Order: sequence, then structure tokens, then C-alpha cells
Amino acid sequence: MEFSHVAFILYLVSSFFVHTYGGWMSSKNSPDHVIERSFHALGTANNIRIFGRDDERPMDLAYARIMEIEDRMSAFKRGSDVWALNSNAGVAPVRLHDDTFDLLKRAVAFSRLSDGAFDCTIRPLVELWGIGIKKNYIPSVQEITEKMALVCYKDIVFDDGAMSAELTEKGQAIDLGGIAKGYAADEVKRVLAGCGIESALINLGGNIVALGGRPDGQPWRIGIQNPLVAAGEYLAVVSVVDKAVVTSGSYERYFIEEGVRYHHILDPRAGRPAQSGLLSVTVVCGNSTDADALATALFVLGCDNGMELLKNFGGKAVFIDEELQITASEGMTNNFEKLG
Ligand code: ADP
Ligand code: MG
Repeated sequence: MEFSHVAFILYLVSSFFVHTYGGWMSSKNSPDHVIERSFHALGTANNIRIFGRDDERPMDLAYARIMEIEDRMSAFKRGSDVWALNSNAGVAPVRLHDDTFDLLKRAVAFSRLSDGAFDCTIRPLVELWGIGIKKNYIPSVQEITEKMALVCYKDIVFDDGAMSAELTEKGQAIDLGGIAKGYAADEVKRVLAGCGIESALINLGGNIVALGGRPDGQPWRIGIQNPLVAAGEYLAVVSVVDKAVVTSGSYERYFIEEGVRYHHILDPRAGRPAQSGLLSVTVVCGNSTDADALATALFVLGCDNGMELLKNFGGKAVFIDEELQITASEGMTNNFEKLG
């Protein structure tokens, strides 16, 4: 579906590694019996592991929920809520499903909180740059200026009674690519918990959500990738129980021209890929919807300004800059370990 990216399919799985523990000698009834599914959805590679249950039904329900979210929130799928909103920009309000309505409201709230570093109306700029889609295309200043004029989260008008929303200007468009995978991962957790699952690891395109701890009661250990090296090398590990760990980085979808790295996280105030001196930001938070939006915003803001936003918001984060310097926010002490 490509919330944001068409060529994103190839990249993922690699963003993180997860230490599960070796030597599982599981019987079907034992707590460490695992049911695993890998699949493509939401424009990315996904993997879900459910422990301690010999029953495919929770996995089927989780998968169906992801597909439902994709059908409603993809900007690409004809007939989706987001597609309808974008097609009717400047024309008419559009009635939305409850979940799209709520997530769009959260996206706008976060856009406001981050003072526009995250902006869910970024789509005209995303299309213009087409990172990962158009080949090494650098738009002109005039093109950028034109599209920037369309990006403004304040221009979404909600009607709570009618459960509808409207973009006020023609040409405006919503992009939930920076938040919807996080939301989907939270939804998978909710569905699995509703089935009585107590241990699961959900990875939707690098949005990792741990349901409970590992089957042996230990925390999950989630690796933070070295952004300068191909998948599989890690600079640090965070240990979590029942938390989301979400990374935004410029190292997956980009091209380099004349020494500049053009990637897919755009600074709405500049109209171009964020140049904040960072290669990645990893957020640890109670839910992955907030973590996803926060990671994107922190990447745009950079380390110093990002710390200010973190203070207001209350999440924890690990910043990796272009020199591979690692900066962890306050509160990332007990559960965080640098490697090497
Ligand atoms: P990924 O989707 O690679 O995990 P992010 O969560 O950071 O990374 O989301 C990046 C996607 O979000 C982009 O592909 C684009 O669709 C959208 N996006 C880019 N810049 C912004 C921004 N400043 N605010 C909100 N969404 C953005
Ligand atoms: Mg994000």
C-alpha cells in the first residue's frame, strides 16, 4: 500500500534485530511455542511472532486488522479514506471511518505539538520529491515553494458530529506515512491482548511493539542499527517489556548527490529532506502511534531541539548523528546499552 513509499518494500526487516533466545525446544503447549508470520503490507515488510499459543486465530485477526487499516488509510488505494480526502481537497468534506478520523486527529494534534516539524499534510512535498520513486530528482526552488504553500495541518477542518474532515485548499493532501504503521502496530497489540496473548513481538516496518516480555519473563532486547552499515550491525540495544521501539532514519531510502543525502523525511519548513545532522532517531514509548510520529518529528528537529520536544512530550529517545555519536535522552539509562 505504500503509505508513503513504493520502493520501501525492499528495505526493511533489517532496521532492527531482535535477540530472541536460542535453543527453543518448544512443545505446542509450552510458553515459548511460537507462531510466526512474515508478510508485505503498509508498503513494507512485517513480522509478527506470538508466543505460548498453538492457535492461528489471533494471528489471522491481527493480519485482517492490518489489511483493514491499509484499505482505509493508504494514500494510494482508490477508495480509501485518505484517497477520498485528498481527491476532495478544496471541494467537499468526506465522512471517515472512526479509526481514520481518530488517527487523523492525533496526527494533527502531534503536528501542532511539534510546531509543524511533523505535518500530516506533507503529501504534496512527498510526491514532488518522490524519494525512492522518482530517480534522483531534485525539484526547483519554484516547485518547492509552490508545494510548501499547500502544506499546513491547520487547514484540516473536522466535523465531530458528522465524523468528517475536509482539506480547505485544492491540491492539499494528507500523508499518514509517518504515523500509520505505528498505529497499526498498536492495533495488532490490542487485538492479540484481546485474545489473551501475553507475549508477542510485532514488527511493522521497523515499528516494533513488545506485548509483555519474552516467554521466559526477561525483557526483549531490541537492537539499534548502525545507520552507515548494511543491515545487521548494531550500535546499541534497548531492553523493553510492553513498550514500543520505533526508529526513523535517513539511511534506508535516499540518494546522494554532490555530497548531500536526499532522503524521505522532509522538513516541512524547508520543503526539502531534513538536514538536522542526524542519521537516525529511536524512540521508546508506551505506544507506537506516538513513538512513530515522535521519531519522525525528532529526526526533523535534530538532537538539541528534539530534546526540548521530548521534555514536553515525555518519551525517551536515542539520537545517532552523522559522526555516529550516540546521544540518549534522560531516562534511557537502565534499559540502554551501547555495543562495541
Ligand atoms: P518510515 O516510514 O521510513 O518508518 P517515518 O515514520 O519517519 O519513516 O515516516 C516517513 C514518511 O512520513 C515519509 O515517507 C512520508 O510519507 C512522511 N513524512 C515525511 N516527512 C514528514 C514530516 N515532516 N511529517 C510527517 N510525515 C512526514
Ligand atoms: Mg514516523
